[in-house]
Amino acid sequence: MSRSAHPAGPRHADVLPEGHYTAPADDLNALDEKVWARTVERGEDGVVRVGGIEVTRLAEEFGTPAYFLDEADFRARCRAWADAFGTEADVFYAGKAFLSRAIVRWLKEEGLNLDVCSGGELTTALDAGMPAERIAFHGNNKSEGEIRRAVEVGVGRIVLDSFQEIVRVAHIAQELGKRQRVQIRVTVGVEAHTHEFIATAHEDQKFGIALAGGQAAEAVRRALKLDGLELIGIHSHIGSQIFDMAGFEVSARRVVQLLAEVRDEHGVELPEIDLGGGLGIAYTSEDDPREPQDIAKALTEIVTRECEAAKLRTPRISVEPGRAIVGPTAFTLYEVGTVKPLEGLRTYVSVDGGMSDNIRTALYDAEYTVALVSRRSDAEPMLVRVVGKHCESGDIVVRDAFLPADTAPGDLLAVPATGAYCRSMASNYNHALRPPVVAVKDGGARVIVRRETEEDLLRLDVG
Ligand SMILES: *Cc1c(COP(=O)(O)O)cnc(C)c1O
Repeated sequence: MSRSAHPAGPRHADVLPEGHYTAPADDLNALDEKVWARTVERGEDGVVRVGGIEVTRLAEEFGTPAYFLDEADFRARCRAWADAFGTEADVFYAGKAFLSRAIVRWLKEEGLNLDVCSGGELTTALDAGMPAERIAFHGNNKSEGEIRRAVEVGVGRIVLDSFQEIVRVAHIAQELGKRQRVQIRVTVGVEAHTHEFIATAHEDQKFGIALAGGQAAEAVRRALKLDGLELIGIHSHIGSQIFDMAGFEVSARRVVQLLAEVRDEHGVELPEIDLGGGLGIAYTSEDDPREPQDIAKALTEIVTRECEAAKLRTPRISVEPGRAIVGPTAFTLYEVGTVKPLEGLRTYVSVDGGMSDNIRTALYDAEYTVALVSRRSDAEPMLVRVVGKHCESGDIVVRDAFLPADTAPGDLLAVPATGAYCRSMASNYNHALRPPVVAVKDGGARVIVRRETEEDLLRLDVG
């Protein structure tokens, strides 16, 4: 943990000592239900199953590395979020966590809305039939082409991120003879990390318009004047992999304060507030995420209380969970290639993927666990580092974990909680072929994003 940790990483660099790792679990064959997708279980024969199918069969049919996504779990989590917020609020799934056409169809069927932040995500959403009015368009530097397309198709909202963009969107909407529903993204001066948050006056980051110094109030003033825009509310997103609701509390209080200022100055009560995403999941047994029901109750109470204090009508709330919906629903399946014990240090276990299918460990110091899933083993625990096959010593998938000491080439390992920000951040480093995503449900498995082929690589390389 000596390298700088990103806020989106699971913990601050300074919370855990160098070389921190938890003691081995009592039984390395056990699968903590907190970190594994709902239908994952180890059968009598020792082989792990998902959706009723053995991982050994999945590896044979689809190869490794591959992501296996528990469709029933994904749908259940969508429903849990939708039910928790009820008809009083809107849930937008953050597509950047992982997006494909199948995902869009499931979201649509389960009644969720969708956040996109690029033309590519918008195309995927529309192609799979998500109604434009259920799409929100985000990003700190949307191109004119992206804005034009979003306005033309009629997305439900564009989240404005800068003064330039206020004018740009207004201008394009007017040209197209439309009035675009927009929110203004503000930075509230809350830096939220996993187990703590820091409230500051300013935020040193690229997103949004600062509440501090009257910037956000000025943005509202300008947006209200422009015919091309219908300002429906204020947006704030405070971080990622957050467990502590206190950061949301400060953020909601500051946003509601802005709503009160807007009412006092313009006589307008903006009808919506969006509190963003960033809710944490369990990557390891040490993480204790909250249930959607809990989160909904806490957020609704905070907003209602603050609005009562400011004598405002309570606005409609929206939230944007990405990781909390898709993260826990998938695992990555790898085959062990080499096992290299380093005397007195640890054993390096090399798998057939790596930083090209999971960059989070290298990028954010993210923590993961790993399990031997193709068989049961009662061998002693050994301290391992699971590494990939890339030409880079930082190519680490799981920094510190325990595996049975008889783990050997040909064994299958699974890394849980890789549904979010793994396939969506996958790269072709070393001309790796990006792995497929396979949806598993009720004894059936189907590819929803196929494995890349060498032909795919050469097709882009025009010679
Ligand atoms: C990334 C992002 C989200 C989703 O974050 P998660 O940590 O996946 O929940 C939601 N809203 C905005 C604006 C984001 O940038």
